Amino acid sequence: MWKLSSNVNEDIPFNEEESKDLLEELTVALGKTDIPDTLFFCPDIGDPRLPEKFLNVMFLDGTFLASPHFKTCLTLAAITTDHRTVPLAHMFHTGGENVAHATAFLALTKIHLKHVNWESTSIMADQSIALETAIKCIFKTQSLTCGLHLFKNVVKHTEGKPYSHFNTLCQTLDKQKQEDAQKALLDMFYPKSKNGRTPTYKKIESELARFTRLNKPCGFEAQTTNGVEQLHSSMRYMKQGNVVNFVTHLSVLQLHALNKLQTENCRDHPKFTFYAETILSLQLALATAFKVELKSPGVYNVSYDKDRNYPIVKVYAQYMKKLGRRKSFWRSRREYLDSLITCTAVEVTEVSCSLCPAAVDYMRCPHVVAVRGLLSFPVER
Ligand SMILES: [Zn+2]
Repeated sequence: MWKLSSNVNEDIPFNEEESKDLLEELTVALGKTDIPDTLFFCPDIGDPRLPEKFLNVMFLDGTFLASPHFKTCLTLAAITTDHRTVPLAHMFHTGGENVAHATAFLALTKIHLKHVNWESTSIMADQSIALETAIKCIFKTQSLTCGLHLFKNVVKHTEGKPYSHFNTLCQTLDKQKQEDAQKALLDMFYPKSKNGRTPTYKKIESELARFTRLNKPCGFEAQTTNGVEQLHSSMRYMKQGNVVNFVTHLSVLQLHALNKLQTENCRDHPKFTFYAETILSLQLALATAFKVELKSPGVYNVSYDKDRNYPIVKVYAQYMKKLGRRKSFWRSRREYLDSLITCTAVEVTEVSCSLCPAAVDYMRCPHVVAVRGLLSFPVER
């Protein structure tokens, strides 16, 4: 196995020779005898503070490489608190997507990216059994499941139109509503999918912590592996040429993403990005919808203020429009927003909420923002 250093070597030639010739040259240059069947590369994250800018969920995905030698590329990508995808590590190998390579990939990633707090990081994947098994093996926890992939499989195994039940199950913070949606959805499964207990049925039946807003260990809007898939589809263009060229492009992309993050966070006067500004303003706006009452020292009851009747759904939609989200995006969050309105006496401290999953950084749930912001800086109502 080879590991490339973090610095992209500017001397790597760009030419049109076959990838295989280049690999042979590289093999000889490195004093090896066999062309490697596996190639792992990741940048060194020099600044230990940088991974603090990642959400506590990362994405793992594999893609097919139309290369004469390597057949599969595995990628682990982080997502920043600003919702940008940062490719962290890649592995090329000659086999298909399988448990052995995926396990080796994650093990190497964990060793080389030592500043990442792996203990508190969840990994999300599509429903690939190889990837799920590898994640469990290396991180000793269940992987999260991409909502879009899961829904595609739900459609395959059910009769009728499962979207609204599935969406309620994923988005609502109301336990009763969630149970009703789960039951209705399970009833829609074909008898053979139920009896055979397909992985999809099992997830809907007993693994809600892998994909629902209410049960997931990490919060906010990381609900699909879209980020890493977009990255893989943009690789279509990078794949042209030869393998060394391709590795160079990918390494540059990794370094560029990390450098950008580094620069942003080392400014003397850090600026909010548009995304952060919008999300922060939205959280503050939503927080004004709640009534906060002291329950015991440091603990508050937070409820939707019915007298004020703040238009949560309308406000959310306006902010999402500003972010350029399509109507279908904010409509699909309706169940979540409705549950912000119907939930009463949510128990909240300055850092935690009994209802919403733990969030990171400035992305606190509106209940926590209500306690922290509005108690310290009360507004005239
Ligand atoms: Zn909350």
